[in-house]
Formats: sequence, C-alpha cells, structure tokens
Amino acid sequence: MATRKRAPTYKPCPSCRAEKAQKVSFTLWGGMLGPAMLTHVKCGGCGTAYNGKTGRSNTGGILVYTAVSLALVIAIVIAMSAM
Ligand SMILES: [Zn+2]
Repeated sequence: MATRKRAPTYKPCPSCRAEKAQKVSFTLWGGMLGPAMLTHVKCGGCGTAYNGKTGRSNTGGILVYTAVSLALVIAIVIAMSAM
C-alpha cells in the first residue's frame, strides 16, 4: 500500500454536511484503539461524532467494539481466576 502524504478527507457530517471533520484520537469508550479502528471523526461545525469512512453514525460500531472489549476483559478475568 502506498503511503499518502495528503491529509485524509472524511465524508461530510451526517448532521450539518460540513466537511471539516477531525480525527478523534481518544474516546472514553474505546481508548486510543477504538476510534482508530472505526475511523471515528468529529465534525468541526456541530460537534457530531461519526464514522469518517462511511459518513454515518458510529453507534453500532461503538456497541460492537464495547461488547468485544468487554468479552475480552471477562475472558482475561476468568483466565486469571483459574490460575
Ligand atoms: Zn456537523
């Protein structure tokens, strides 16, 4: 895959159609990995957070991400308590 120097452009905001979204590097639900995986961006106009790749709300992705990380934590806890 070729490295692009150009700043990535994101889909316009689903709420106000502005095209000045900025990448979110940290969120409460996903730490630093979650928003990177979901292309989580925040609109510079109205503050709506959404998926910069699809231009749609990230709620479904956030739910899946949270469920998967919760399952991982539970698995680790079970593995540790079994030792
Ligand atoms: Zn907006």
